[in-house]
Amino acid sequence: MSASLLVVGSVAFDTIETRAGKHQDVLGGAATFIALAASHFCPVNLVAVVGANDFPAKHTELLASHGVDLEGLERAEGRTFRWSGVYADDFSSRRTLETQLGVFESFNPKVPKNYLKSRVVMLGNIHPALQLKVLDGLNKGVFVIADTMNLWIDTTPDLVNQLITRVDLLVINDEEATMLTGERQMLVAARKILAQGPKTVMIKRGEHGAYLFTKETVFFAPAIPLHDVVDPTGAGDSFAGGLAGYLVSQNDTGLAAMKTGMLYGAALASIAVGVFGPEPLAEIDRAALESRVAQLRRLVSLAG
Ligand code: AMP
Repeated sequence: MSASLLVVGSVAFDTIETRAGKHQDVLGGAATFIALAASHFCPVNLVAVVGANDFPAKHTELLASHGVDLEGLERAEGRTFRWSGVYADDFSSRRTLETQLGVFESFNPKVPKNYLKSRVVMLGNIHPALQLKVLDGLNKGVFVIADTMNLWIDTTPDLVNQLITRVDLLVINDEEATMLTGERQMLVAARKILAQGPKTVMIKRGEHGAYLFTKETVFFAPAIPLHDVVDPTGAGDSFAGGLAGYLVSQNDTGLAAMKTGMLYGAALASIAVGVFGPEPLAEIDRAALESRVAQLRRLVSLAG
């Protein structure tokens, strides 16, 4: 049995408006994108909750058919988490219109015993109290990767800060890094976060790539330049999921593995933004993925 990734986070219905159109109740959620991206590299164990009566079988089938174990996906009375947002025409920013927690409001995450063998956990975006609760139930020595978002930094900063002290690798975007630290310069923000505990911080900057910071190192991974962005929702989660899955597949959380993992994450993010919904992210084959990673390597190659 190969090593697996434990994923926690939202599974959602998203209503998204971009200049390419408006789509209602698309399958989304941080955990969905993370799990499908990671599934290209390793088996995934999912802990999340959906509504008992409003979550269609085709969505669970999509996850299950891509190696995502659903024993930890609870079905609770109530409505599945819903998020809606609208993107600026140039995709440089987005505004949340509505967040309906639904069944996440009373969610008490339970990690099935079988999932405790995962040596790496990716705590996707969800209320930090739930992320902390999951951490409390895990064995010592598990490598912890975490994400968060502006809503939780705004409303529950103490819990977010508590979480950060328990994380090995924090993966956030530039706006979140600034909100967390009050710093606009990424190196300064990263140093402040590193001082809180994580050994590594990655700061994603959308189409401008992503940075990795440790106390000793700075590394940059580009993003693939695209002309056909349709919906950026889930790009950050696809990046983190691809990275996390790659680390599990290599049984290595060292710096070199993280750098290569960032390229796989960036390649998967470039797939995620091409349509509304996560299906192409799930369906991309290994050859197409490797070709995007090769494209990323060429972007920063000095060879003529
Ligand atoms: P990303 O574009 O990578 O930041 O992630 C977008 C996904 O995050 C969407 O599919 C949403 O369903 C999900 N999401 C948005 N707001 C929240 C929230 N407050 N908690 C958890 N997940 C959220």
